[in-house]
Amino acid sequence: MIEDKRFYTFVFAPTAKSQLRKLNVHHNVIYLLLGFAAVGVLTVAYGTWRLAQHAVVVAKLNMTVQENRRLRERNQEAEGKYDLIKTRLAALDTTQRKLAETSGISRHLDISRNIGQGGPDSDTDLTDIERATAALEAELRTIKDVFDKDQVRLSSTPAGWPVRGYITDGFGNRRNPFGGSGSEMHAGLDIATNHGTAIESTADGIVIFAGPYAGYGNVVVIDHGYGVTTRYAHMSSIAVSVGNHVTRGKQIGAVGSTGRSTAPHCHYEVRLHDRPVNPLNYISVGRS
Ligand SMILES: [Zn+2]
Repeated sequence: MIEDKRFYTFVFAPTAKSQLRKLNVHHNVIYLLLGFAAVGVLTVAYGTWRLAQHAVVVAKLNMTVQENRRLRERNQEAEGKYDLIKTRLAALDTTQRKLAETSGISRHLDISRNIGQGGPDSDTDLTDIERATAALEAELRTIKDVFDKDQVRLSSTPAGWPVRGYITDGFGNRRNPFGGSGSEMHAGLDIATNHGTAIESTADGIVIFAGPYAGYGNVVVIDHGYGVTTRYAHMSSIAVSVGNHVTRGKQIGAVGSTGRSTAPHCHYEVRLHDRPVNPLNYISVGRS
């Protein structure tokens, strides 16, 4: 084996004035030192890289924490709104229950039981709310139909006075005002007032008779549906004709004394299935 005799010679002066010194270093030692240096550099580089990585991770973590806080806040906000919606639905349900009872609708809904107790992230509960809202809407449409029909019935039911005046003769049996023997049935109400005063329909309906008729003189008969008709007699003039649709309060004629009458007045009748009933029962129901 041949001895390796390669050396590196370093020449250096310890101080500026001292003599030069020489140092012979075996080249293996140099390689060893260079090797150590390389490992050192790599270690420092690796450490720096890891530190940088760590900084990135920390930054990402901070962002995630902030994002989480934001999401939590939004979630709390949503939960608050969700509770509010549930409260409002429950209140709506209570109001609508009363409406349904008033309308005579049998109720199958139980909103308060249908709405769950969970939060907004629960799909089932949001579906429940959607279902409850749809059910309330459907019921409300039914209630509206009932009210619309009621409204028609209400506006078609005689109410209030056909003319302002004072009652000179009521409904029922009375002595014959024209001096005949015995008593007769007075089928209506006599309301006396000035000749020419406007006579108004007491409900919505259709004119089925308008003209002179025996003792009634000039008379208008209005059909209000539901088997109800009204008659207004002894008119001095008639303002409508057969087939006219009239609404409550519409002038149909004027007070007079035509037919079997001694002084200007409106003979007012309400008939149920053509049977005279006391108009006072209808007058008191509606307008005063
Ligand atoms: Zn009369």
